[in-house]
Amino acid sequence: MYKGAMFRDKVAERPRPDHLQSLFTSASVCFAVCILFSATAVAASGFLPARQAMAGETSDPVIEQCTRIGHKLGSVTIRQCLDRKLEDSGARSVNGQVIMMKDYPPLPGREPISRVLLIGGTHGDEYASVSVVFKWMQTLDIYHSGMFHWHVAPLVNPDGLLQRRSQRLNAHGVDLNRNMPTPEWHEKTRKYWDKTRKDPRRYPGEAPLSEPESRWLYEEIRSFKPHVIVSVHAPYGVLDFDGPPAGPRKLGYLHLQLIGTYPGSLGNSAGIQHQIPVITVELPHAGIMPSRGQISRMWMDMVAWLRENTPKQRTVDAYAAFDETTRKLMPSRAIVDETAPASPVAKPKQLLSSEPRSHLSGL
Ligand SMILES: [Zn+2]
Repeated sequence: MYKGAMFRDKVAERPRPDHLQSLFTSASVCFAVCILFSATAVAASGFLPARQAMAGETSDPVIEQCTRIGHKLGSVTIRQCLDRKLEDSGARSVNGQVIMMKDYPPLPGREPISRVLLIGGTHGDEYASVSVVFKWMQTLDIYHSGMFHWHVAPLVNPDGLLQRRSQRLNAHGVDLNRNMPTPEWHEKTRKYWDKTRKDPRRYPGEAPLSEPESRWLYEEIRSFKPHVIVSVHAPYGVLDFDGPPAGPRKLGYLHLQLIGTYPGSLGNSAGIQHQIPVITVELPHAGIMPSRGQISRMWMDMVAWLRENTPKQRTVDAYAAFDETTRKLMPSRAIVDETAPASPVAKPKQLLSSEPRSHLSGL
């Protein structure tokens, strides 16, 4: 790779600064007009249901979100986002934004080895976690061979990312990676939060699955039944693993370093409680992209590991008891109820984004 390309890769993930933003404005206005035009046409025929999106048409909430992603991220253009043909999952964030998803289904004549759920952008200020998932989708779009059945959601927390000043938390001020059901959630998340001196960036919420984004994720796990979950974060530069042993020792330049689990985290909930392997990819920088070489080495190592190590029998067996495990974790709520209103959330008083990050406390 020539030097210039590498340089571009490495700086590309910074969100576009304001002076660059203005450069994009004229192009964006032009594009937005075109988008509006087509959106109007779509609107005239009524709301585009997810089924149609799955048939290859792009729904307007997806067009709208891709436009915002293209404006926000240096490494994903509007066109690149639209070209991924993401679908409207039907789920909405606190502020009503779509959670986009793409299904890479089994192909004729080939039984997939396993089902894989790949997610990015759980924390809205970890820009590279969204962009790297987009890059991997680009690879999948070309090379999907039916070896695995993939579900990919590059941006779980659209409200966190898609605002002027991106933030880790969702629009209720909740850390989605502390809002998943785990044993004695109320006691343990409170204790943990107290230990962080009530760091607003670690606020777990009022109840497990109080947030629409975490409800979507949990329901997606329950219905898709992935044999492994890959969740991309930043900026600690390690690989973490939870669930039936053992995880990959390395993916590209990231090496396994078991961090331990937090109450309310995805690794604890899906990995430990439901016995679904959770690979947490912690990129080294939130605002700087890995090189193209690293992006592809991580991908190849991941696929090689998935091929050899999934599905794990313990995961397959554990799915038979999924709802029972949920009942134990959330005795007051028998099954995930998508229509249940979110519990009122008391927001912490401190500023949301000025807290220093203590080492490895932010997975
Ligand atoms: Zn994170």
